[in-house]
Amino acid sequence: MSKMIHIVEVGLRDGLQRETVPIPTADKIRMIDRLTAAGIRQIQVTSFVHPKLVPQMADAEAVCAGIQRRPDVRYSALVLNAKGVERAHAAGITDIDLSISASDAHGRKNANMGLQEAVAHFAEMVALARSYGMRVRGGIQCAFGYYVDDVTPDLVLELARQHLALGVDSLALADSTGMANPAQIRAMLASVLPLAGDVPVVLHLHDTRGMGLANVLAAVEAGCATFDTAFGGMGGCNFIEGAAGNVPTEDTVNMLHALGYTTGVDVEQVAQVSRMLAGLLGRPLPGKLYQLTEERHNTG
Ligand code: ZN
Repeated sequence: MSKMIHIVEVGLRDGLQRETVPIPTADKIRMIDRLTAAGIRQIQVTSFVHPKLVPQMADAEAVCAGIQRRPDVRYSALVLNAKGVERAHAAGITDIDLSISASDAHGRKNANMGLQEAVAHFAEMVALARSYGMRVRGGIQCAFGYYVDDVTPDLVLELARQHLALGVDSLALADSTGMANPAQIRAMLASVLPLAGDVPVVLHLHDTRGMGLANVLAAVEAGCATFDTAFGGMGGCNFIEGAAGNVPTEDTVNMLHALGYTTGVDVEQVAQVSRMLAGLLGRPLPGKLYQLTEERHNTG
């Protein structure tokens, strides 16, 4: 049997958060249901953040209420604070994504918190989510660097150790700036995977410098089995200059299938969702594969 690689779809959150054109809630729900039908088993459906901060996510509750939940699919949401944890819990979310930035400078811009404060705050949020019985994914943003050179692999390892000590259910390393290269990915995973043991390690990669799929390849070969991807290659952080999209779901799945890995995801069905979003936004998306017709895909 070929090895299973798990895809976490983040296009509804990371992918849409910067879009100023409001996407109708009904269309978001349709996209989530179609991604579920495409075989994706982990979908980050929204973020519970202040609507003034991210207007696109103002309908978080309505999105959660509208989706057709399947028992074998995990629907997660990103939160930044206690209010977010409480809103997510009230909306029936069982899987919560919490994170801190390894970069003190980025954290101050993105969350108004320096690293020390963020570490303490993170521990409080984990405890709160746990009190609601939620599964917690602990993330480290800017794990492969920020424009201010304040992130080192040792710091990331220390933060990973702290997340694991708090009992997170999975550990996510985010290349928020898209600065990682395959050599860095290999080196980081060689340290983090033994540390994490049975706790799944997730890579969240941005394709800012065109190294997204090369990094996925390096990571699967190094033993990483879970990736955040966004349909159509959408995404990017508001507080990172020149930020570009996540690695595209359908392009990633297509490559993994070509290499003999299993994902359970149907490339063409995801591509159709990307075409739907391109239509809604009235412009092309960064992904490659969705632009091709089904006959021209290279899936095995
Ligand atoms: Zn991201």
